[in-house]
Amino acid sequence: MALYADLHRHLGGSVVPRILWRYFQRHSPDLAQRFPQYREFEEFYTRERNTLDEYLELHTLVESVQTEQTLPYFIYRLIRGAYIFENLAYLELRYTPYLRTSEKFSQFERIEQMQTIVEIVGKASQVKEYPIVTSQILCMHSRLPYEVNKAIVDLAADMRDYVCAIDVAGGDAHYAQRLDEFVGLYEYARSLGLNTTGHLYETTDGCYPELLPYLMRIGHGIQIPLLYPELLKEIARCNQCLEICPTTYLKTGTLDSLYELKVVFDRCFEAGVDIAICTDNAGLHNVRLPFEYENLLTQDVIDFKQLQACQDAAFRHAFAWPYGQRPATLLMGLLQETYSQDEEDSLLAL
Ligand SMILES: [Zn+2]
Repeated sequence: MALYADLHRHLGGSVVPRILWRYFQRHSPDLAQRFPQYREFEEFYTRERNTLDEYLELHTLVESVQTEQTLPYFIYRLIRGAYIFENLAYLELRYTPYLRTSEKFSQFERIEQMQTIVEIVGKASQVKEYPIVTSQILCMHSRLPYEVNKAIVDLAADMRDYVCAIDVAGGDAHYAQRLDEFVGLYEYARSLGLNTTGHLYETTDGCYPELLPYLMRIGHGIQIPLLYPELLKEIARCNQCLEICPTTYLKTGTLDSLYELKVVFDRCFEAGVDIAICTDNAGLHNVRLPFEYENLLTQDVIDFKQLQACQDAAFRHAFAWPYGQRPATLLMGLLQETYSQDEEDSLLAL
């Protein structure tokens, strides 16, 4: 069995529609009333949006029900699904911890509560019957004040057992007016020895070369090969990996068809830039990782060899995968031992 790694998945968008709808029915009478029928809810939840901002609005629906008390409920189901249906061996889960804290608290209290949230997510991700290596990426947010974003970086540095990196999210058009601030925060994060990724070059409004030198991986980055292919050489030299999440671009209206990604993959392969194929919001899209792979193959965006190169790259660029190689290589080692033992046995039997 092939085992996969997903490097880019949001906690908010990882709840599949049926789990969320069931949760509303059981625990949230207001939302249950708004969506009495599952089909209607699924249609509303998974339909394509016109812009990235409109699409991100949906996250607030999930964030409102993902609290200190309910996070273990959602994470258990997320890990179970990822293990059973997606063959994940490794998962980096990202979210903005501040947006899971209680709105009743002051900013100071909410910053304090973030530590508890990270602990809850970390513990809930370790499910004995569904073993997956997991780690968290904490997202700074383009709409949160500087003090909160800085506290998120400090928290990542303080909780390295659970957290492997930081990110910035919230819509890439909104970094523009505070670009210096985010450059400073990334500089600070690197000075603390933190790993970094960032939602960048996702849409045509999110192209900030000033942030690139601070990133070890680039969240999306598709506009680089599409609009600024001259940057690819430097990206390859810095060994920065693009986290490409195919279904997202259709749901946000960024691309009209998956086939438009062919030039993205071709130019990256040509320039020697690694790509990890990821889900972003597997629940919100109702598209799990193996289907992202399959869609790219059936639509002739990539071939099997390229797919395997991307799957290898995902493990190579994983921030918290402890083994250096992808699990298939480890299995191959085990199989070779079995084969050579069999060979020896059959020789002895002669
Ligand atoms: Zn994302």
